Amino acid sequence: MTSQELIALEERRGAHNYHPLDVVLTRGEGVWVWDVEGRKYLDMLAAYSAVNQGHCHPRIVAALKEQSERLALTSRAFRNDRLAEFYDRLCRLMGYDKALPMNTGAEAVETAIKMARKWAYTVKGIPDGEAEILVFEHNFHGRTTTIVGFSSDPQTRGGFGPFAPGFRLLPFGDADAVEAAMHERVAAVLAEPIQGEGGIIVPPNGFLRRLREICQRHNALLMLDEIQSGLGRTGKLLACQHEDVRPDVLILGKALSGGLYPVSAVLADDPVMGVFKPGDHGSTYGGNPVAAAVACAALEVLVDERLSERSAELGAYALDRLRALRAPAVKEVRGRGLWIGIELHPEAGGARRVCEALEQRGLLCKETHEHTIRLAPPLVITRQELDWALDQVEAVLAALEPHPEPALADATGRG
Ligand code: PLP
Repeated sequence: MTSQELIALEERRGAHNYHPLDVVLTRGEGVWVWDVEGRKYLDMLAAYSAVNQGHCHPRIVAALKEQSERLALTSRAFRNDRLAEFYDRLCRLMGYDKALPMNTGAEAVETAIKMARKWAYTVKGIPDGEAEILVFEHNFHGRTTTIVGFSSDPQTRGGFGPFAPGFRLLPFGDADAVEAAMHERVAAVLAEPIQGEGGIIVPPNGFLRRLREICQRHNALLMLDEIQSGLGRTGKLLACQHEDVRPDVLILGKALSGGLYPVSAVLADDPVMGVFKPGDHGSTYGGNPVAAAVACAALEVLVDERLSERSAELGAYALDRLRALRAPAVKEVRGRGLWIGIELHPEAGGARRVCEALEQRGLLCKETHEHTIRLAPPLVITRQELDWALDQVEAVLAALEPHPEPALADATGRG
């Protein structure tokens, strides 16, 4: 079938809960993907940072193949011979006592929320049902009903209530607001170190350190969602390491499998993880042998290929180049590592049409919110490939005329 035929069938049979670019991909290798007509594109989204290790990394594919031919799923009713190694490798690399595996990012965030609440009632001594979790405006932690209930984005929430109570929204980056909001029934503070879906929003320097200190003083858990920011994306293994901060609860997903399989995890030390007893929580697929084997390989690749270091070096270079451009349509260039947001002035006509123009040049990007173009290639990208990609971005931005019509609202540019 041609791209047009596949798009027509997908539109007819599939729910319209996304608004993708009309490119139908059939193959991927490293930073490159090909559509069904054989056109080649450089992937500047990397599946919202799930493909940090590059498409179809041979070591991760080999692990997937080998394990899926031997034993794929046991459920957690029985043990499997791959899980222990995954736990051990992940806990050693991240520096925690224990991990709890799930599948999607949203499930891992749900796990962290349950953990914080049970810790609040059984360890901190908050009266049952009264625990509060502090969260931040423009957050994105997934799509379950509990999680969208504390989103500040009207489309994310709209039509999906009633929502779970027990969350309080604060301005992102404002540590004084967190200090002021603290009270004895706060169980945890939940934050993204850099807000990805919010538009690559980097908080003021020292924000995470202050969160760490405030949580410590008030005996509340600091829970960092590193699902998109973690695993090399910002130029360190974890984005919180830029401020030498260690959260009590670390939430990972996406690149934990290098894009081959949904694998997520929550990490914490014994006094916190210990609140979960048999029967409290779980998932049929969570911690299955394929997930464990794939995640081990994905972590190995991340470390062996020094992808964090690569992201730091190439990201700094890309930021310098883009900041030097000074195209009139560009309001701000921001980011950390190979994770860059280019925010356009509202008159520029929206980021979507920039992404469409880049697609014509063989570069796949996705807008986040209306006016921000996100650049987040697989971290295996070479300097030469990055230079080519930046040439395309610069050419499109330089040619961008201010657009008289307001951009169409499109909140579907989300992970
Ligand atoms: N948390 C963050 C920071 C994310 O960026 C995302 C997805 O974009 C999620 C959670 C949800 O992950 P998933 O789509 O795997 O449920």
